[in-house]
Amino acid sequence: MSLEAPPTAGSASATDVVAELRRRGVADVDDSTTTRALYSTDASLYRVVPQVVVRPREVDEVLAVLDASRATGVPVTSRGAGTSIAGNAVGTGIVVDFAKHLNRVHEVDAERRVARVDPGVVHAALQKVAAPQGLRFGPDPSTHTRCTIGGMIGNNACGNRALGYGRSSDNVAALDLATGTGERLVVGRDVTATSPTLDRLRDVVATDLATVRTELGRFGRQVSGYSLEHLLPERGFDVASFMAGSEGTLGVLLGATVDLVATPRHVHLVVLGYGSMAEAGDDVPTMLPHGPIACEGLGARIIEVYRAAKGAAGVPEYPRGGGFLYVELAGDDPAELAAQADRVVADSGALAHRHVTSVAEQAAFWRIREEGAGLASRIWDRPALSGWEDAAVPPASVGAYLRDFDALLQQHDLHGEPYGHLGDGCVHVRIDFPISEPGGPAGYRAFIEDAARLTASHGGSFSGEHGDGRARSELLPLMYSAPALALFRGVKHVLDPDDLLNPGVLVDPDPVPSAAPHGRGVPAPLPGVRALDADLRAQGKGWAA
Ligand SMILES: Cc1cc2nc3c(=O)[nH]c(=O)nc-3n(C[C@H](O)[C@H](O)[C@H](O)COP(=O)(O)OP(=O)(O)OC[C@H]3O[C@@H](n4cnc5c(N)ncnc54)[C@H](O)[C@@H]3O)c2cc1C
Repeated sequence: MSLEAPPTAGSASATDVVAELRRRGVADVDDSTTTRALYSTDASLYRVVPQVVVRPREVDEVLAVLDASRATGVPVTSRGAGTSIAGNAVGTGIVVDFAKHLNRVHEVDAERRVARVDPGVVHAALQKVAAPQGLRFGPDPSTHTRCTIGGMIGNNACGNRALGYGRSSDNVAALDLATGTGERLVVGRDVTATSPTLDRLRDVVATDLATVRTELGRFGRQVSGYSLEHLLPERGFDVASFMAGSEGTLGVLLGATVDLVATPRHVHLVVLGYGSMAEAGDDVPTMLPHGPIACEGLGARIIEVYRAAKGAAGVPEYPRGGGFLYVELAGDDPAELAAQADRVVADSGALAHRHVTSVAEQAAFWRIREEGAGLASRIWDRPALSGWEDAAVPPASVGAYLRDFDALLQQHDLHGEPYGHLGDGCVHVRIDFPISEPGGPAGYRAFIEDAARLTASHGGSFSGEHGDGRARSELLPLMYSAPALALFRGVKHVLDPDDLLNPGVLVDPDPVPSAAPHGRGVPAPLPGVRALDADLRAQGKGWAA
């Protein structure tokens, strides 16, 4: 694929698409080589060059883009900050950047504890507006300084404190969206929307309630596939929560009303040290009844890399151990929190522990955890990559899963240091795939398939928060039955019958790996783009930032 000659996606050339967009009044339309190169990557291993990039200023312009898409057959990929690791914020047709202009917080209603926002508002910007009222948006991904609320809802993102505040799907009060047919729908908790489309959606689920009840929504971090459980009658046919995690494949989000939570008055962090990460995982079921707002894990290697990169001064004193749990408790009464923390320590099987009550020291511990992804990619001789980086299992199985996962890495002669949201059963890892060496892509593929089988054998989900994208969608038959996959196709057909919204993701997926992987050291097929990537990485803005 050449960057100089814009590719054809759907039935129209790039020139036709640009003309159709401009004719409909879309102002910021850019098919320059540089812009297409910039938007050809997200934080994943994938590169997919778009035909054209659009940065809408108003909702009407987004609707005009969808109209042009239907007229030309050229697909639309919605994009926030492009921090997605699954390869779902890139596409061959029209990439719509919501972050550039559609990024306002319209209202914070402190009484109802909700905020009404544009899809492109950055998470940190919303927190800044809500903070003076003692409120915040609960889900907190490590990319909170740059990720958008639309992208969070697209991926059903959450973060370190999902135990306390839930996932994005638990925090959407109402969504304003447009389907692939251009129909505008407002759906949500306090909204009674009626539409033949919604009736058809209800009918799809009604055809096989048993499959939805037994295969979907089995545990909190089951993010792979569509979250059909929200459409069950006993769950109130909650279309807004269902749309979270649909990765831009069922609708384009035009606006959202999201829940806010009160910022806790006091936080007590207990850091527990174990012999290994698997032993830390074994203790998770004992920790959860204590009601922590976070129960996170990381290994000693990540701390050592942090120390080597940033100096010893920024590293707080850890208790003895090779694997650690951060158990964070929140409440109004510090004395009660201290007593609760003592009970956590007494019940734990930890080798050693530390109580951390100073806000500054807590921040130092969390900084190391939040930089886990970047740090975990620098531990081994080869750079470690994403691709299999956020699988989740029911929390009771996380210790056993970690042992089996370690054995699988050894079997494939690969290395990776797990860390992440162990309290939710969600394990992050970066793996040193030799993807640029002979046989590298085949080895990558073989590992991913084995990891998928292993995760499925533990009753897990291939994605626990990043989405399936191009990295995992093709593997869904290893996790879901044929009837469940038929239901996924059914809801896609209702909301996007012509496959114009983010094709290649979730339903009728692109193969893994489909587009050229471009990790560090990998020869890029597009020389102009490789130079650009190198520049961005040098500025700390590349895929590994
Ligand atoms: C270093 C690192 C750490 C991370 N840590 C976390 C973490 O702790 N927790 C976590 O959950 N994730 C994490 N992620 C993944 C990612 O940052 C989150 O999923 C984030 O919420 C994505 O937001 P974004 O604005 O970058 O969305 P994008 O990457 O731009 O898009 C994500 C998805 O949402 C869709 N989308 C975007 N806007 C819209 C819209 N308006 N309408 C419809 N669909 C839309 C896109 O098509 C895409 O499928 C991490 C990523 C990196 C690189």
